[in-house]
Amino acid sequence: MNKNKKKNSILIDLISPLIVAFVIATIILILVVNENQKNVRGMLESLQKEMITIVQRELNIQMSEAIQLNKVNENAYYSGILDVGDPINRERYFVGLIKEFDDVAMTYIGLANGEFYGARRNIDGTINVARNNEDTMGHSEYYSVDENGNSIERIQVFENFDPRTRPWYEVASESREISFSGIYSHFVFNEPTLTASIPIFEDGLLAGVLGVDYLMTGLNKALAQLPIGENGQVFIIDDKGQLIATTTGESIFYLVDGIAQNKMAADSTNPITQATMLVSEPLLESSLPEVEIEGKTYVVGKDKFYLYGNNWDIYTVILENDFLMDRNLTIYRTLFGLFFIFMIFISLIFFITQYIIRPILRLNESAKKLSQDIRIEVPLTKRHNEIYELTQSFNEMSKKISRNVSELAEEVKLRTIELEEKNKMLSKLSYNDELMGIGNRRHLDVFLEQALELASRNDTKLGLMMLDIDNFKEFNDSYGHIEGDECLRKIGKALKRTVHRKSDLAARYGGEEMVVVLQDTTKENLLKVAENIRLEIYNMQLPNEKSKLGVVTVSIGAVLCEVKPKQTADEVLNVADHALYEAKSNGKNRVEFEEMG
Ligand code: GH3
Ligand code: MG
Ligand code: MG
Repeated sequence: MNKNKKKNSILIDLISPLIVAFVIATIILILVVNENQKNVRGMLESLQKEMITIVQRELNIQMSEAIQLNKVNENAYYSGILDVGDPINRERYFVGLIKEFDDVAMTYIGLANGEFYGARRNIDGTINVARNNEDTMGHSEYYSVDENGNSIERIQVFENFDPRTRPWYEVASESREISFSGIYSHFVFNEPTLTASIPIFEDGLLAGVLGVDYLMTGLNKALAQLPIGENGQVFIIDDKGQLIATTTGESIFYLVDGIAQNKMAADSTNPITQATMLVSEPLLESSLPEVEIEGKTYVVGKDKFYLYGNNWDIYTVILENDFLMDRNLTIYRTLFGLFFIFMIFISLIFFITQYIIRPILRLNESAKKLSQDIRIEVPLTKRHNEIYELTQSFNEMSKKISRNVSELAEEVKLRTIELEEKNKMLSKLSYNDELMGIGNRRHLDVFLEQALELASRNDTKLGLMMLDIDNFKEFNDSYGHIEGDECLRKIGKALKRTVHRKSDLAARYGGEEMVVVLQDTTKENLLKVAENIRLEIYNMQLPNEKSKLGVVTVSIGAVLCEVKPKQTADEVLNVADHALYEAKSNGKNRVEFEEMG
């Protein structure tokens, strides 16, 4: 195992994929929400187009109808069905037409000579006919009619009315084709009204102008049905910037001295209409332009309507939040979604940590401790799973290991003590004479060699005695070998009592002969110790009936040696042996001394 390798945490390994999953989930959530918002915006765009199409279609229908009615009048005029010179025919014709078309407020003809004829619808549904000619002295007179359209009674007079000064007449006579007035509020019906007029000619000369006041009731109905949301609006302005129609319910006219005048959209009392007029043209041309009005976001759309010289603009204004989910709400929902995901993530981490990672870490810690001979019982997990079993096995294993280890330690301790004792005994045995309890021959050999070497190097004197029990043969003969051994044991003890310097050694040389070595000694000391030994043994008064003194004695040959380099033990022992021989010869129980070197 590479010890330098950085340690990775199992926690990080397990949680990293979770973090990645969390980030991916978050990104997906945000993308989905974003895509959703985009879809809604696409829907908004088609909604806007649809609304404009509805308005355009309605305008087309209504204006086409106004055109058709003018064409009908024109045909009637040229074909003689309408004969303006015949009062009965003329009045019946206009009454008949107005009866059949609910959206027609008035239909009439103004002649080049200033005469004016027609029929009008009142708010109560009754119909009047108008007449203005020489008979009425240039005033415009209105008469009630019977069910056949014949005038009955004069009910109203507009003085000095000259149709040729009216805008519908002027426009048509100038353009020489079908023309429209702008939209205005009808003074009786309060509906946006359009006057369509068509010039008539006789022999290439203008004979008059036919007109139809057409109520744009359908336009209002169509506008009311537009899906503008709670806060949206649609309005139409003409090329002068005047309001033609609006879904806001706002009046499109001012009353100035009792006369309705068109209102400019820029002067609208509706703040949204007014603000929309301030939106720049380049912005409006962009797709779904967003406009901040009164702190809210609106999407504004604009399109043209063009027919017979009418050049109008249709505006759609939609509050984004009516259709688009409220942005803040979306953000809150997204945040809530994120929070939800986050909570799941946290719960997962908690679960993984609680039930997987912590038990594993605990096991790891305990295993490490176990390697340091510290046993910790790992608590079992609540869930009975593989980790539970692993923990169980680990505890079992660690129990066994620590028991084995302590047993082994105990065993080793015991064995060590045993071994030490055996060693001690062994070394004692190998260097000791078992019977006499002093050094044996081997001990003597090793000791003597070292002592000679040391004495030679340090230039000190070495003392050596050779001892032999006197008449020991007879002792054995008299008391037997067992008593002989007992005697040897006692002599050994006596030697131990008298030779006690650490640097000295008493050893059995063989049979009933012993050697005592004294390192770094003098003649006096050597002789003193020798004498002490002799006396000590004599004083024990061990009976030996066949000896001269009747007790056990020893003879000692002592040598003081000035040790030369390479002096051998045998050389010294031989001299000592010689001195011993002297002692025996001189009567035993004595010390004989010789000096070497
Ligand atoms: P001397 O005074 O001349 O030394 O006479 P000695 O009888 O001691 O003669 P010697 O030294 O020749 O005899 C030694 C005897 O010591 C012979 C043997 O029976 C006895 N001996 C030697 N080793 C042992 C031993 O381990 N135990 C016993 N009981 N006797 C021993
Ligand atoms: Mg002997
Ligand atoms: Mg002897």
